Amino acid sequence: MPHTDYDVVIAGGGMVGASLALCLDRFSCAGLRVLVVENFPLPPLSDEKPAYRPSFDARSTALSFGSAQIYEELAMWPLLTEHICAISQVHVSDRGHFGSVLMNAASQGWPALGYVVENAWLGNVLLSQLRKNTKVEFLSPASVESVSVFQGYASLSVREGDAVKEVTTQLVAIADGADSGLRSQLGIGASIDDYHQVAVIANVATEKHHDGCAFERFTERGPLALLPLLADESGMSRSALVWTFPEAMADEVAAWSDEEFLAELQRNFGYRLGRLRKVGQRGAFPLRLMQAEEQVRGQVAVLGNAAHSLHPVAGQGFNLALRDVECLSRLVAGAHRRGDNLGDLALLQKYTSSQRGDQFVTTTFSDQLTGIFSNRKPVLSLLRNLGLSMLDITPPAKSQFVARAAGILPGAAAE
Ligand SMILES: Cc1cc2nc3c(=O)[nH]c(=O)nc-3n(C[C@H](O)[C@H](O)[C@H](O)COP(=O)(O)OP(=O)(O)OC[C@H]3O[C@@H](n4cnc5c(N)ncnc54)[C@H](O)[C@@H]3O)c2cc1C
Repeated sequence: MPHTDYDVVIAGGGMVGASLALCLDRFSCAGLRVLVVENFPLPPLSDEKPAYRPSFDARSTALSFGSAQIYEELAMWPLLTEHICAISQVHVSDRGHFGSVLMNAASQGWPALGYVVENAWLGNVLLSQLRKNTKVEFLSPASVESVSVFQGYASLSVREGDAVKEVTTQLVAIADGADSGLRSQLGIGASIDDYHQVAVIANVATEKHHDGCAFERFTERGPLALLPLLADESGMSRSALVWTFPEAMADEVAAWSDEEFLAELQRNFGYRLGRLRKVGQRGAFPLRLMQAEEQVRGQVAVLGNAAHSLHPVAGQGFNLALRDVECLSRLVAGAHRRGDNLGDLALLQKYTSSQRGDQFVTTTFSDQLTGIFSNRKPVLSLLRNLGLSMLDITPPAKSQFVARAAGILPGAAAE
């Protein structure tokens, strides 16, 4: 086997790249030589919430029960608990229609249906853990400009300021996001289904406490989710908003003042959380279903948003990526113990075969939910409302739906 500088190089230290580095280090008992190359400078090591940065931005993420178990195994969960808010119930409704459904953790016999964490805090905990308690190395700010694959190894051109250097590795993990330049550079195509929608995100302070309830509401513009967050420093109750609009409205919504935005949100969401008091920094994300045509080649694995990016309506994208990361890391750690090449195509194909079912079901679930709940046609609206009512009175169907949404159906990591 050719000698390489590293065993695994991860291009992109966002939510997926950083989680992969931690998994690899833990599952190999710090036996792997792992390098993370990240475009953006690392934040200072501190217990403060850091400034927003790519990936770890103003969004919040609903972590499934399955993801919580993975972070538990990585010894990350105790560090995250002070920053997460448990989802004890989910209320799904359709504005101006009769159907609604309430799912709660207690009736499933679970401690929570999921957990909400602000991305900036997730980043703080992940990056601090990696820097303080693992052997993982960072090159940051630095970017991987290109990847070349040879027999048994890959060579990466890495730019750090004005200097470009070559780094060799057995396996390169491409985790540079949905617009992955490296996926294109390798000639890996992607199928793109544009939803022609944008997700507008912001934290919203509310008069009433959410009591751990997450709301999913279908409005004439598109689905709207309010996920429970921990209270702010002044004790004010907050929820994280993800509101989908047709892309044609993106500029208009961006131009709304905070007062206009809150008034429009109040009109669409109603008063379940009392008066909506304040809105924080807003962001907008164009929404597409993107799937890479290849996820592995000899010495190369494509992960996270670079491999598949989903509509956020069901909060599944990162949870799925984390299950991928766990599966790949276990296989790579096993190959390392046996002294095998970590970029061996047969090994990487074992990874894609293991995850294929989960990826297919999760992607289809998110895509179908988007289709059903973004459509205002009267017949579909009636069916949707009948569906919500049926779901509410049919316990097995409801349990299946809740378990799927929580990422713990067959194929998921929590089994
Ligand atoms: C509005 C919204 C809400 C969401 N909510 C949820 C949710 O509740 N639950 C859930 O499971 N999922 C959710 N998702 C999905 C989730 O955000 C994504 O799965 C996740 O961000 C993917 O992370 P990533 O690390 O693959 O990519 P990114 O977050 O795009 O990170 C890529 C990283 O690579 C770096 N980079 C790029 N190019 C290079 C290069 N050449 N060299 C070095 N570094 C590079 C970037 O600086 C960045 O740090 C949501 C998505 C959206 C849009």
